[in-house]
Amino acid sequence: MTRFVFVTGGVVSSLGKGIASASLGAILEGRGIKVSLVKLDPYINVDPGTMSPFQHGEVFVTNDGAETDLDLGHYERFVRTTSTRNSNFTTGRIYERVIAKERRGDYLGATVQVIPHITDEIRRCIKLGAGDADVCMVEVGGTVGDIESLPFLEGIRQMAVEIGRHNCVFMHLTLVPIVGGGEIKTKPTQHSVKELRSIGIQPDVLLCRSRDQLPDEQRRKISLFTNVEERAVISAVDSDDIYKIPLLLHEQGLDDIVLDRLRISAPPTDLSDWKAVVEAKFATDAEVNVAMVGKYVQIRDSYISLNEALVHAGLKTHTKVKVHYVEATDIERDGAGCLAGMDAILVPGGFGERGIEGKIEAVRYARENSIPYLGICLGMQVACIEFARHRLGLAAANSTEFNRDTPDPVIALITEWRDLNHGTVTRDERSDLGGTMRLGAQPARLEAGSEAARVYGAQVIRERHRHRYEFNNTYLEPMRAAGMRFSGFSEDDLVEVIELPGHPWFVAVQFHPEFTSTPRDSHPLFAGFIRAARAAHAEQGAATGTAAAPQSAAQA
Ligand code: GLN
Repeated sequence: MTRFVFVTGGVVSSLGKGIASASLGAILEGRGIKVSLVKLDPYINVDPGTMSPFQHGEVFVTNDGAETDLDLGHYERFVRTTSTRNSNFTTGRIYERVIAKERRGDYLGATVQVIPHITDEIRRCIKLGAGDADVCMVEVGGTVGDIESLPFLEGIRQMAVEIGRHNCVFMHLTLVPIVGGGEIKTKPTQHSVKELRSIGIQPDVLLCRSRDQLPDEQRRKISLFTNVEERAVISAVDSDDIYKIPLLLHEQGLDDIVLDRLRISAPPTDLSDWKAVVEAKFATDAEVNVAMVGKYVQIRDSYISLNEALVHAGLKTHTKVKVHYVEATDIERDGAGCLAGMDAILVPGGFGERGIEGKIEAVRYARENSIPYLGICLGMQVACIEFARHRLGLAAANSTEFNRDTPDPVIALITEWRDLNHGTVTRDERSDLGGTMRLGAQPARLEAGSEAARVYGAQVIRERHRHRYEFNNTYLEPMRAAGMRFSGFSEDDLVEVIELPGHPWFVAVQFHPEFTSTPRDSHPLFAGFIRAARAAHAEQGAATGTAAAPQSAAQA
């Protein structure tokens, strides 16, 4: 039987419920418990797939091809369980399911209402997401007191009645601000718990976000006012490293509190691999500068998995990775000069035309100046466009995503390039040919002897996809002849990996390796990329070293 930890948040949003849930998951997993995680999101979009990264940060893609909330990325970085499409439910998706049933007549003439129909569906979905785990962590998005999250809170309250209160833990994350001359304020926490209790949920654990460790006196006070036992009032101090959080929460006995309440006996936790992750940060012996050329760069959450993947690669290779965010539109305006001195360049995934020419310029800069390059999804597509334009002389080569009338659609919807190839479709007819998104994990075979096969140490890989457009195979032979290597293909012969032999390190992929990178394992492509950046950095250092030597000799 699965037991549940329900995680809610109060006072303000963005307190890090996702990371707190994931961290507790990591500690429990360290005690040999099988965990699963479910995220409930109060917004009405059926999934975040259509939401702008500016609005909602990154869209995380699961193995089974669902576009989900970025918190699922945290989950997968912290626990070994892989999320599925049933790990994330939004209000929109719950209503969609209920309305579909209503239309089918499943409710047999009943008036369909929030309670019980929506809340029943919420409970059903939670159980779907929980699977056969021993403990399922259920994170309710939003903040207690929001109108939108009420049905979810009601749903989890009912669930405790259904499966037994003793099989559930309610964990509430709040803020304990420090104001003025360092005064610790517990009132917002008191109020937020009051709000939660008014809808019938008495929390068992409070995670109090604060700058510093809460003094015992304040913990006692919070305990008294909120009816939460004192040892379960836990400080969640601001941390410079999210991977420290499992250790910090374990030190305060969070896992014992949770397991005691759930009456689960488990061996002591083994967090040695998390200690190793935290220590690896201090064991660096080189620093590299990586430019990330994107278009959502001012919103860090937009590339959260990517940023983490670079951190992981740094841990793996003992490298301090300094990421420099470059707006592609700045390159369009001022040229690629800002990339001078970078040890490596990365172009991440993206949608839409804005910034495309800047990204193409960044690729050109990396290729011509022999700077290691990693292209991801759109980053592979722009690499192909750049190569076609400047090595094949197809000056107007483009993706049909950005120019529907390009004479050389090196990147296009499959329907477009196949039909163009057979000459059966006119340009105007093309407009009706919609592309369906290629989503989720799919196998690719790597060419023996390629850089991709070398870094992966494998011939067949499985990586997650999220894109519509593909490399147009009509251009395979001419691009090959001009020196591009196509080193990975899908089962249906779509291009998955390209590289440039003769360049120090130039690899671009049609999939998203960042979604499967974890702090404990890192990801071979990112590790390969950072190793190449290190080599480039050492070479640059050697070059300036030799330049400096004669000078100092002259001074001497
Ligand atoms: N916009 C491109 C496509 O749809 C790339 C998508 C991406 O980078 N995720 O194919």
